[in-house]
Amino acid sequence: MEPGLPALSVDFKKTTTVKHTTCLLALLLPFTTQLNAQKKADRKTLGNLQTHITYLASDKLEGRRTGTPGEQLAAEYIASQMKLAGLSPAGDSGYLQTFLVSEGKLIATTSHLTINKSTLTPGEQFIPMPFSAQKSAKGDVLPDVNEPDNIWLFNVKDFEMSPHADPLEIYRQNAREAAKAGATGVIFYNGTETPKDVQKWLSIPVEPLKIPVMWVNSEISKVLDDAEDLRIDMQVDFASGRRTGTNVVGHIDNKAASTIVIGAHFDHLGHGEDHNSLSPNDQTIHHGADDNASGTAALLELARQLKASRLQQYNYLFVAFSGEELGLFGSKYFTEHSSIPPSSFNYMINMDMIGRLDPAKGLEVGGIGTSPVWPALLQQTIPASIRTTYDSSGTGPSDHTSFYLKNVPVLFFFTGTHSDYHKPSDEATKINYDGELTVLKVVYELIEKTNGMDKLAFTRTRDKQTSTSARFTVTLGIMPDYTWQKPGVKVDGVSDNKPASKAGILANDVIVELGPHTIVNLEDYMQALSGFKKGDKTTVKVRREDSEKVFDIQF
Ligand SMILES: [Zn+2]
Ligand SMILES: [Zn+2]
Repeated sequence: MEPGLPALSVDFKKTTTVKHTTCLLALLLPFTTQLNAQKKADRKTLGNLQTHITYLASDKLEGRRTGTPGEQLAAEYIASQMKLAGLSPAGDSGYLQTFLVSEGKLIATTSHLTINKSTLTPGEQFIPMPFSAQKSAKGDVLPDVNEPDNIWLFNVKDFEMSPHADPLEIYRQNAREAAKAGATGVIFYNGTETPKDVQKWLSIPVEPLKIPVMWVNSEISKVLDDAEDLRIDMQVDFASGRRTGTNVVGHIDNKAASTIVIGAHFDHLGHGEDHNSLSPNDQTIHHGADDNASGTAALLELARQLKASRLQQYNYLFVAFSGEELGLFGSKYFTEHSSIPPSSFNYMINMDMIGRLDPAKGLEVGGIGTSPVWPALLQQTIPASIRTTYDSSGTGPSDHTSFYLKNVPVLFFFTGTHSDYHKPSDEATKINYDGELTVLKVVYELIEKTNGMDKLAFTRTRDKQTSTSARFTVTLGIMPDYTWQKPGVKVDGVSDNKPASKAGILANDVIVELGPHTIVNLEDYMQALSGFKKGDKTTVKVRREDSEKVFDIQF
């Protein structure tokens, strides 16, 4: 609905004379012109949004994974669009600002394992354990004979693996005992893990032992099972894995004392290599049209519109972040290294997934507790016809958190999660462009309204419970144990007065079923959770010590 539309409801029956009709036409004409202009402007915006999203989510960009050529192509596109809009570059090198993302340990090329002259493949046939020392060991080894000053072989089949035990911890304890007893190195064989499982352990930070420790796969385990004597030469070296991410930053410098920041992340999951896909067995391109080509497109469109506007009381900074999907790396770096200090930021608006506006679910706006002016301002701005859910917290699973933590008022716009979330099927053809236009207009109008206002006051809010809760309309109120390696989701803690605690779920319970869904890992859990809405009733099956318990819960 546009301002001025109600004036069209003039009562025609009373305008009986020619004179009156002429007057009315004269009155109506500017409205019609205005309406047409608005329609034209909307068509242009819709076209731009479509162009940006279609390109960013195309196969060519291969899912825009941080540190890949696809991410670089996206960054170049965003920079060129910022230039086209007339923004001045505000990165470290033109519009670009690079930062490093640490990836835990990588197996260095100097790591090796040779058994009876055959050299094995790192990462597949053998993998160093995360608690291994960076050392070498050599020896003639008899299987089943573990003696001091030699390499020890452990057949994992002989271990008593309780179903609740953390296998990594069991490996670590055995290796530690072996080191104490004089072993110069340890090799574990016949473990039930896949090489991929063991690779994942390398990102877990653990204290190193004093000896090299390796895991070997089932193929090499067979060799060790059948061998009579073995000549082993092993060496473990780690490299620290690092990737370079790129933010894109553009500026409208109105020579004002304070700056409004508008942000959206543009990175996505690539082919799911970072284990953050919800289709873990599908290694095709994760397009990320809603997450977050939608927010990036809106960012570029707002840049174009604000540059053309007369809103000049503040400066505007437009930041397209990378590294978000790996844990807000880009926005964290930006807030710590920006040439414009965060203390001069008036407020920050983050758009992450705004392309799936569904009238039934509506719009979600987070961060409204971060400034006393937000609630009233939002109510004046968002049309009553849009169903809106508000959340006060300044933190959440997206980049506004980095700004909130620097005491900047924030708002987070989000049109909700869906069944394509973090899957290859999050495609440009599924975007609700009219819906996104509606969200974009709300954001623009909000910025317009703050143009006549003083710099906003900042207020602290409560923190979000888990880093994922804002993706969902419901929460169980548990803190999952992210290091848990066994099937199910282990509960690290429960929040008071939330469905889990009300039902009687306790810390250390392992959730194995949620409603009709079997829960094997956190992804299953999150996916299952996203299918529920407030008020839904279901059951949760947990493993507690050696028994299973079923609880009735209501969201
Ligand atoms: Zn996102
Ligand atoms: Zn995401």
